[in-house]
Amino acid sequence: MNKVKCLIIGSGPAGYTAAIYASRANLSPVLIEGPQLGGQLTTTTEVENFPGYPDGVEPFTMMDDMRRQAERFGTQFVSGIVTKVDFSVSPKKVIVEDEIEYEADAVIIATGASAKYLGIESERTYRGRGVSACATCDGFFYRKKTVAVVGGGDTACEEANYLAGLCEKVYMIVRKPYLRASEIMQQRVLNNPKIEVLFEHNTVQLTGENKVQGADLVYRKGEPDEAMRHIDIDGFFLAIGHHPNTGLFKEYLNCDAEGYIIVDGDSPRTNVPGVFAAGDCADPHYRQAVVAAGSGAKAAIEADKYIKSL
Ligand code: NDP
Repeated sequence: MNKVKCLIIGSGPAGYTAAIYASRANLSPVLIEGPQLGGQLTTTTEVENFPGYPDGVEPFTMMDDMRRQAERFGTQFVSGIVTKVDFSVSPKKVIVEDEIEYEADAVIIATGASAKYLGIESERTYRGRGVSACATCDGFFYRKKTVAVVGGGDTACEEANYLAGLCEKVYMIVRKPYLRASEIMQQRVLNNPKIEVLFEHNTVQLTGENKVQGADLVYRKGEPDEAMRHIDIDGFFLAIGHHPNTGLFKEYLNCDAEGYIIVDGDSPRTNVPGVFAAGDCADPHYRQAVVAAGSGAKAAIEADKYIKSL
């Protein structure tokens, strides 16, 4: 049994920032890094909107900077995945990889969110054989090929632009007649001659022998001018949003219908005293690295106050 004052779960901007603040407050935090070191941000290409990097920054560099900053003040890192928690007791129990048990006065959850899939059968059939939810991870395999990106938000636009730099052609499959992304991202997509946006299209199924070779789409489903269309593609990239990684905590914490942890107003306090939530696992709205970092700072400040009150 390991006894700690402050245990942080997650290694994205929220977790690392919480660790910087908690270690500077002498809470000697232990941070469990989880399955994706550096968090979701590391699946992007370049971070252009985090203050302090006027020329942009590679996501891995930025996350490593944050990690080293936390390490400098004494954060201890544990690589592994949390498999069980018990928040009904005090101190709280957190078990890593089913064997290492921690008791913590305060727990900060910063487990982020994961990519959503459409839920069509063929998406599962071809996963890893042409279907991906991470252009930065897998785009390289589609150099000079034709791919499709599903979604009309900032992520989809960013991925389409990134893939256009590698591929022969990129289709964007957008279910609405407009893009939801920020103006600057929309302009980049619409001005890129390699990207063709297919508005009001939905994917019916993927086709191909052993790997993705095409997609059957439907245009304006249910409308009088409904039409089917087939596109030849080698890769199919999902960029339709995320769901929060909160399954382990639902037994103890109040969550909304989508699974986001409900916090008290704009504080990081959950319904369990001593358990705090920061970053995308509690934020269905902003989902920005800088916002996650800010909420990580708040969570550490609240954890410090809580521990001092014990
Ligand atoms: P969003 O929720 O903003 O967009 C999801 C997109 O996927 C929408 O176009 C949505 O369509 C579409 N979609 C959802 N479900 C389906 C489905 N079943 N079939 C087809 N299309 C579907 O998610 P993002 O991941 O793009 O962005 C999340 C947040 O992160 C946003 O706030 C965004 O601004 C931010 N972000 C910021 C970046 C930056 O600033 N550089 C980069 C990346 C993300 P519809 O519009 O019809 O709902």
